[in-house]
Amino acid sequence: MARRVANVVARSRISSFYPLHKAIAAPKSGPWEQQLRHLNIHEYQGADLMSKYGVNVPKGAVVSSRKEISTVLEKEFPDNEELVVKSQILAGGRGLGTFKNGLKGGVHIVKRDKVEEIAGKMLGQILVTKQTGPEGKPVNKVFICEKLQLVNEMYFAIALDRASAGPVIIACSKGGTSIEDLAEKYPDMIIKVPINIHKGITDADAEKVVNGLNLKCADKNDSMQQVKHLYDLFCKSDCTLVEINPLAETADGKLVAADAKLNFDDNASFRQQEIFALRDQSQEDAREVAAAAADLNYIGLDGEIGCMVNGAGLAMATMDIIKLHGGSPANFLDVGGNASENQVIEAFKILTSDKKVKAILVNIFGGIMKCNVIASGIVNAAKTVSLKVPLIVRLEGTNVDLGKRILKESKMNLIAADDLDDAAEKAVAALA
Ligand code: GDP
Ligand code: MN
Repeated sequence: MARRVANVVARSRISSFYPLHKAIAAPKSGPWEQQLRHLNIHEYQGADLMSKYGVNVPKGAVVSSRKEISTVLEKEFPDNEELVVKSQILAGGRGLGTFKNGLKGGVHIVKRDKVEEIAGKMLGQILVTKQTGPEGKPVNKVFICEKLQLVNEMYFAIALDRASAGPVIIACSKGGTSIEDLAEKYPDMIIKVPINIHKGITDADAEKVVNGLNLKCADKNDSMQQVKHLYDLFCKSDCTLVEINPLAETADGKLVAADAKLNFDDNASFRQQEIFALRDQSQEDAREVAAAAADLNYIGLDGEIGCMVNGAGLAMATMDIIKLHGGSPANFLDVGGNASENQVIEAFKILTSDKKVKAILVNIFGGIMKCNVIASGIVNAAKTVSLKVPLIVRLEGTNVDLGKRILKESKMNLIAADDLDDAAEKAVAALA
């Protein structure tokens, strides 16, 4: 349950359908996608998966070091004069991104004798795009692809749609650049085709999509087949998103998925083990990686008040009431109904190591979770991490007196609060 609510919170951060995103800290800018609890895989991994479903993808080979490149060129691309060198990060907008070392562009089309040089400048470097936030993402792998003659770039996606309660295919005859810009510039060119999950994709559905793409030269039937393969991949791999941008037409009349973003439902990890083994933690929010290791329900946000709460509902209420008092939460954190003292310590470490956190609000309603366990966890955590920000604590419920006594006897410097409202008010006041 808690995890499910956490997923909802995460999803609400990009969903315009879900009103909750207004209630919780909506960052003004930042790496929204990265905080979703949906597995995201690299382009080269996605290309491999798509080709297994019969989707046309450019021929490519991935390298993690400069010294592998000459062999790859010889073996995989003996006759290619030009190649596309693509940084592998779990964020879009690479083409228009900039490396912290000054190199412009995370995607380069180069002559074969320049591949080594340009890939060498990407590997091990940090790429900043409009989706990564200013901190950027490390490029640990580079995908070297054949250069295709792209005569037309389009947009294609399959997502889950609340309105039709099933998958919806979104297509646009213009693509390549960001869909946000396309949606603004050409709203009438975007078509949506909901698919009946029980019937599956019909010829009529596939035809609508292909018509919407307004193809210049690719064969219509082949293209409908490609759309069906993509739908097949979406369902069989438990995707939450398949986004191909650009879906391109090549000079020889083929439809090719030149770049793809694939997301997968975390709740399906048990039956998609091969896919979930592809998870790359080097691209994830470090706070969330640590929280997952301690089995905490945690989602990083961009505010200043670190929250430690038990129960997903109370955690949501805490975030709301912080907003109500003019503050913004730094995270969603539900330590769970029966967290161990160790988990509390880990949670506290994550909150205190977060530079954005300017105050910590602990809000515990002890039921199965006992207030004294939380109190001991906080006291013991404070022994190992130095607490530099104000700590506001509201305890209520099971063993509350014992919990309060533990905190008092520890002589920790904290601000006690009577209830949720009082706690939020004090936390916001403590920021000043
Ligand atoms: P993104 O910026 O992270 O979305 O990276 P993409 O993989 O989409 O690459 C950005 C752009 O590079 C695409 O929209 C294309 O215009 C171009 N591009 C990528 N591969 C090829 C290719 O094989 N041939 C040509 N001509 N252009 C390519
Ligand atoms: Mn792209």
